[in-house]
Amino acid sequence: MQYTEIMVRYGELSTKGKNRKDFIKQLGKNVDRVLHDFENLKVSAKRDRLHVTLNGDDSDKVIERLKDVFGIENFSPSIKVEKDIDKVKETAVEMVKAQFKDGMTFKIDTRRQDKHFPMDTHDINDALGGYILSNVDGIKVQMKNPDIKLRVEVRMNGIFLSSETIDGAGGLPVGTGGRATMMLSGGIDSPVAAYMGMKRGVKLDMVHFYSPPYTSEQALAKAKELAAKLTRFGGNIQFIQVPFTEIQEEIKEKVPEGYLMTIQRRMMLRLAAKLTLDRHCKGVFTGESLGQVASQTLESMMAINDVTTVPVLKPLLSMDKTEIIKIAERIDTYDLSIMPFEDCCTVFTPPAPKTKPDLEKTRACEKLIDVEGLMQRSLDKVKIIDIKPGEEFLNAQEDVFAELL
Ligand code: ATP
Ligand code: MG
Repeated sequence: MQYTEIMVRYGELSTKGKNRKDFIKQLGKNVDRVLHDFENLKVSAKRDRLHVTLNGDDSDKVIERLKDVFGIENFSPSIKVEKDIDKVKETAVEMVKAQFKDGMTFKIDTRRQDKHFPMDTHDINDALGGYILSNVDGIKVQMKNPDIKLRVEVRMNGIFLSSETIDGAGGLPVGTGGRATMMLSGGIDSPVAAYMGMKRGVKLDMVHFYSPPYTSEQALAKAKELAAKLTRFGGNIQFIQVPFTEIQEEIKEKVPEGYLMTIQRRMMLRLAAKLTLDRHCKGVFTGESLGQVASQTLESMMAINDVTTVPVLKPLLSMDKTEIIKIAERIDTYDLSIMPFEDCCTVFTPPAPKTKPDLEKTRACEKLIDVEGLMQRSLDKVKIIDIKPGEEFLNAQEDVFAELL
């Protein structure tokens, strides 16, 4: 069915004052960005609801996109009809038929804002109910828990019909919970952690470390593509690519093998924390989960977090890998995450990293490298791009896929 308008109901909205205004304004912006490539539609965020007027744009595609935007409780696609009861009857039958299966029941629920419309709610319910009964074979009326509930709203600018309520993604609009950085690798976990941070309204700037020539262009493109996938929950994402080659080479040369990984992680977190503060962000998110690998033990976290006082947030901390994979599949990042491109961490992973690094020894090992100089040279070469919904980076270039075969 081609709808003319989608009526969106707000999610977990704090009911009063400035919070409410910010929520509505931000959700309006996010919906606008997520739908940016539809040319005709118009988004207007009002006090009680948000309306997407389609102006001929494809309603099925818009519905699919809206399902992912955080801050939406549910929404109803609707059709606007002129204030002519015969036209309303035709559309009502069409809508009911689109959903009707043998044995189903229905009910009409009319509301009237325009008190000048000649029929009252009772008349409208009767007229439409009768017309549906005589035009849809086998349908019955049922007041309590009908299968199809046709809502009719008589507003000043037309009559709106809707019969479906579709669940939204819940959560809070991205941006209402402040801004943080996210350490995004090309793996399975960090995109899921990003999704969970965004669900609580946090706008995330992606920080990605790459180590050419040890890591390829495709590995970098894959991380960007993952960021692009995440834009559908709240709009554009800043992607910050941070060169890590020189740091890894110097660590490999100078630091005892058991501490390679811990020192690498400290350098990553230092850089991420510096970028966080420079960009007025308020925390660093990671995809770590307790006990998953050597760097994710409490001892390791203590040795790594030692480099900053910026909060390090780990939404996956207590989740099992199987639970994380389920979410990755649901948010459509899994297939991309498992594409076998090398990550800068795996390239330099020693065979036996310390699972319980000692904090004092870690600090001593780090004195063997030029922390400040390495950081500065890396930060000087940082590149930032703005990624929009629908952008592609790992498109079906032959060389990309040839490498996988
Ligand atoms: P992921 O699946 O997210 O890569 P993982 O289980 O492979 O996680 P690690 O490789 O140990 O675990 O990485 C732990 C966390 O460190 C990641 O979730 C991510 O937040 C961060 N991280 C790792 N590699 C990078 C990278 N190249 N760029 C940015 N962050 C990274
Ligand atoms: Mg990884």
